[in-house]
Amino acid sequence: SPELEPQPIHRLQEAVINRIAAGEIIHRPASALKELIENSLDAGSTSIRVTVKEGGMKLLQIQDNGSGIRKADLPILAERFTTSKLSTFSDLTRLTTYGFRGEALASISHVAHLSIITKTKKDACAWKAAYSDGSLAPIKAGQTVDPKPCAGNDGTTITIEDLFYNTPTRLSALRSSSEEYSRILDVMTRYAVHNPKIAFVCKKAGSPSLDLSTPSSSDVPQAIRLLYSHSIAKELLHESISSTGNSQRDDDENDDIDDTPKSWSADVHFTNANYQAKKMVFLLFINHRLVESSRIKRSIESVYSGVLPKGASPFVYLSLEIDPRSVDVNVHPTKREVHFLDEEAIMEKIADAIQKTLAGQSQSRIFEYQV
Ligand code: ADP
Ligand code: MG
Repeated sequence: SPELEPQPIHRLQEAVINRIAAGEIIHRPASALKELIENSLDAGSTSIRVTVKEGGMKLLQIQDNGSGIRKADLPILAERFTTSKLSTFSDLTRLTTYGFRGEALASISHVAHLSIITKTKKDACAWKAAYSDGSLAPIKAGQTVDPKPCAGNDGTTITIEDLFYNTPTRLSALRSSSEEYSRILDVMTRYAVHNPKIAFVCKKAGSPSLDLSTPSSSDVPQAIRLLYSHSIAKELLHESISSTGNSQRDDDENDDIDDTPKSWSADVHFTNANYQAKKMVFLLFINHRLVESSRIKRSIESVYSGVLPKGASPFVYLSLEIDPRSVDVNVHPTKREVHFLDEEAIMEKIADAIQKTLAGQSQSRIFEYQV
């Protein structure tokens, strides 16, 4: 066999590195939208309006009425690791906001055309800026890169155009516009259930009809009725479970050996045995972040296996708040699968509570039949 000549090692160009890194964070229009929704929520918005063209591949625009961004911050907005939410490493354990590492906008600017219109309450007018590869770019060819004054409401509008125009393999991995659009609607639906006091709107550009629209003040069961179905909503049960833990600790001690039980609380809305779907719908939020956990899903499924006939599945929305110190948020942003301390013990308590309530329900049904 021919001997393999060693190939020279060379440094990748900055632009190539950034594009690869960006592709790992932003997989598809729906993952970009998730980041943008989280930013809007972090900014205290009460209204979030999304406009989409071609499944978000041509255009993905999100308009919020949150805090806005200070004009002085616009030059570094889309640089990597620029954030208003984190300064020291230990801040990581106290985070209550969604974003924390300042990578979303930077990533988007490397794989799409990104532009922003933003206005704070204090500003007399809004400011518009465009970004490319992490830096300010001219809004129109021939112009300077400086942000331009313009008309606009308080809040921020972020526009992403031509997603993955410079990463053809990513682009070709995407599905049809309609499938990407349904993923966008799915992400928004989940955030809208979790944030029933916030008005969400989603539509296709140029279309008069709204594909998703929630009022600004509702509650979780109402949101589920509106966004999923009446047949789910009318069979919903609700449990709040919490544990006070032992939150007393000495802050001088080494964090690594802190093993005091932490307090946590769970809010779960779940269907009773009358509701039987083919596939489980499972919404999981941990500290208000939409995440996935196949282990948590399985432990809830196993509760239902004793209640539902084979092949039937429930609807479950679980919102878990745990001590930020017990979740490792510093995992790679692509890892939506989360892990946290005491996960098994916490899940056992939640599963128990669901089981007891379901059992109580089925007894009362039997009772009804007997009367
Ligand atoms: P991160 O959310 O991790 O800080 P991002 O790249 O998502 O990083 O955002 C960078 C910064 O831009 C945020 O820290 C925030 O200050 C600002 N920002 C982004 N989107 C918005 C928005 N919709 N409203 C107000 N500020 C925003
Ligand atoms: Mg963010």
